[in-house]
Amino acid sequence: MNASDNGREAGAPRLLILGGTSEARELATALQARGGFALSLSLAGRTRNPLPMGAPTRSGGFGGVEGLEAHLKAERIDALIDATHPFAATMSHNAAQAARRAGVPLLALLRPPWQRQPADVWTQAASIPEAVEKLGPAPRRVLVALGRNEVRALEAAPQHAYLVRSIDPVDPPLNVPQARYIEARGPFAEADDHALLTAHRIDAILSKNSGGEATYGKINAARALGIEVVMVARPARPEVETVASVVQVLGWLETLGRST
Ligand code: NAP
Repeated sequence: MNASDNGREAGAPRLLILGGTSEARELATALQARGGFALSLSLAGRTRNPLPMGAPTRSGGFGGVEGLEAHLKAERIDALIDATHPFAATMSHNAAQAARRAGVPLLALLRPPWQRQPADVWTQAASIPEAVEKLGPAPRRVLVALGRNEVRALEAAPQHAYLVRSIDPVDPPLNVPQARYIEARGPFAEADDHALLTAHRIDAILSKNSGGEATYGKINAARALGIEVVMVARPARPEVETVASVVQVLGWLETLGRST
C-alpha cells in the first residue's frame, strides 16, 4: 500500500488501530518493528495507567460514528484495524459504519472465543444481568472477572459473596453486603488462579467469553476444581473482514498494498 497511490500526499500509509487489548499492542509493536507505516493507536481512556502501546497513542472517544468518520478523514487514514476487545461491540459497529462512510478499508483482529472442554461446568448467559441471575437464589461465593465497568449488575443479587477482580478499583464500591476487591492486571497464571479459588472457597465464576491465553488460567483452574463458570456470550459484531492473528493483519496490509 502506498499513500500516494490513493491520490494523497506522498509518505508512509497511515494506519489507525483501535486498541485496548494485548493484540492491539502486539500489532503496534510488530508494525513499528516492520516500519513503513505512519501508525497511531486509539484507546477509550478507561484504564487509568495503560501499558505503553508501542505506537503514538490517542485516548478518549471519537464522538460516535460521525466523530470517527471525521477523524479518519482529518487524519487521512489509509486503513483502519479494529483490534478492540470482543465485548467492545459499540466501538466495532461504529468502526464498521465510519470506515464505510469514509471509504477506508477496515480489518478486525479478533481472538477466537474459548470453547467448552468436556470437563468444563459452564452455564451460558447472553448478558451480564442474565449471568448474575443464573447464579441462582441461594448464596454463592463468586469470583467476578467482568472488568469493572459492568459490575453494577451484581447489586441485583446481594445474597452472594463477591470477589471482584479488575485492573482499576471499583469506585464507588458495590452496594452489596459482601464484596472484596482485587486490583490486578493479567496475564494470570493457572496455578495462581487455582490458589485464589481455593483460598476464597469460590464456588462460581462470572466470566465473559473473552478468549485468549491471558485470562484462561481461571477457566483451567475451575475445570480442575469442578467449579461452575457462568460464561457470558459475546455480543453480536458487525460483518467485516476478520482475522485472528497479528501475522494475518500484516498479510492483509500487504494485499491491500497490491490492490491499491
Ligand atoms: P464500547 O462499549 O464498544 O464503546 C463505547 C464507547 O467507548 C465507544 O462508542 C467509543 O466512544 C469509546 N471507545 C471504545 N473503544 C475505543 C477506542 N479503542 N478508542 C477510542 N474510543 C473508544 O467499548 P467498551 O466495551 O467500553 O471498551 C472500551 C475499551 O476497553 C475498548 O478499547 C476495548 O478494546 C477495551 N476493553 C474492553 C473490554 C470489555 O470487556 N468490554 C475488556 C478489555 C478491554 P465514541 O462513541 O465517543 O467514539
